[in-house]
Amino acid sequence: MAPRVDPVRSDDVLQERADVVIIGGGIIGTSTALFLAQKGIRVVLCEKGHIAGEQSSRNWGWCRKMGRDPRELPLIIESLRLWQGMNELVEAETGFRQAGIMYLAETQTELSQLEAWLDHARQYQLDTRIISRGEAAELMPGLSGTWTGALYTASDGKAEPQRAAPAIAEAARRHGTAIVASCAVRGLETAAGRMAAVVTERGRVACDSVVLAGGAWSRLFCGNLGVELPQLKVLATVMRTEPLEGGPEISASGGLFGFRKRMDGGYTVATLGVRTIDLVPDHFRLFFDYLPAARLHWKKLRFRVGGRWIEEWRMPRRWGLDETSPFEAVRVLDPEPDGFVVDRARAATAQAFPVFRNAVVAESWGGMIDVMPDAIPVISPVESLPGFFIATGFSGHGFGIGPGAGKLVADMVAGDPTLVDPAPFRLSRFTDSSNPRPHPLAS
Ligand SMILES: Cc1cc2nc3c(=O)[nH]c(=O)nc-3n(C[C@H](O)[C@H](O)[C@H](O)COP(=O)(O)OP(=O)(O)OC[C@H]3O[C@@H](n4cnc5c(N)ncnc54)[C@H](O)[C@@H]3O)c2cc1C
Repeated sequence: MAPRVDPVRSDDVLQERADVVIIGGGIIGTSTALFLAQKGIRVVLCEKGHIAGEQSSRNWGWCRKMGRDPRELPLIIESLRLWQGMNELVEAETGFRQAGIMYLAETQTELSQLEAWLDHARQYQLDTRIISRGEAAELMPGLSGTWTGALYTASDGKAEPQRAAPAIAEAARRHGTAIVASCAVRGLETAAGRMAAVVTERGRVACDSVVLAGGAWSRLFCGNLGVELPQLKVLATVMRTEPLEGGPEISASGGLFGFRKRMDGGYTVATLGVRTIDLVPDHFRLFFDYLPAARLHWKKLRFRVGGRWIEEWRMPRRWGLDETSPFEAVRVLDPEPDGFVVDRARAATAQAFPVFRNAVVAESWGGMIDVMPDAIPVISPVESLPGFFIATGFSGHGFGIGPGAGKLVADMVAGDPTLVDPAPFRLSRFTDSSNPRPHPLAS
């Protein structure tokens, strides 16, 4: 079941010309659109389904610095600054609140691993700290169980995924962006070695630059252009409870659960880090790229073989601009939630916080996360296609960093000084000698 998303009106007519076309209307595409439009740049955003239909409405809603790969820290710090002013900027409620996030540790080894991350926190003077079980229980009344302590960041936040990207899209529209839903981009046209146009199912838009913010579809899109993007998809399952009295205000995870209190008084609940991997041909094509990440998270991966193998095997990997593309066949990627994960998440949450025994599950849904081998995104120009930029592969933590990433992309496309150094996110890291690997705390 797909979560309900705030609707965003779509333009009826596709413009014939723009400065920049953005492919994908998730948190990355909409944020990029807003910051480009603020610079006075003419943007057309094409979305094959509806705004925030995929990952950007299905996530937990955590906006965290804590536990991030150090390469992402400068960008997430800027992103959280943007989130702080977001409601004002977009003149709407995105649900952003600085409510704090806590990682509870079950064992001393786990606590030491969390403590090791403080070295990164210190480098950026973050307020992240290790707290005792007693302090954790004071901050989150009702905590039960034998926790050894926790890593806690009071300045981390949360927002409402089903409202944020739509609100940002509406603001981009007020700044002049054209938003066109049910409009899949099939591919690109170049002229004299530069970007010239995108070709959509509804016609052609001439443009100087293109930003691919296509989430889990980005590898397929790039493949048709001959650009290798080593991206995979993993299924994450989430549930929403009805409003629950007496539960914690702070977002937390520990053992096998993770949750966030929603603005409607209910909770978004999931199983921390447990990912369902439906095996598809790409897992074999990219086997060696993902070996380090698989070794790191082995115990939390659930492998399955089923219908998705056939689906992806049958999906065309090459098509012409005058042919129906695979993006038109799946308007909204709405995978079935994994029932095993729902049961585990419910049980683990109720064990840590007995108040959750009374929680009524209103709905559950699946979300297809786009991952990269080193669990950090690609935010990068594509050298072989001048004028083509990629912003994808946010590896399960792109919601919090979304506004910052959007601003970074807008700066890159406009040729302005960039918000942060984009070098760690370059596409060429997979082919140069840097041998990218994931950070141990990255989910
Ligand atoms: C269950 C779950 C929990 C998560 N929890 C968190 C969290 O707590 N905190 C956090 O920071 N992150 C979290 N994430 C990750 C976060 O949701 C994503 O990293 C982020 O939403 C990615 O945004 P995006 O815009 O890149 O992709 P998406 O939101 O997936 O948007 C991509 C869009 O591109 C469109 N598209 C693709 N191809 C085309 C095409 N050819 N033409 C037109 N449109 C196209 C798609 O239809 C889609 O709407 C979670 C993700 C999931 C699934």
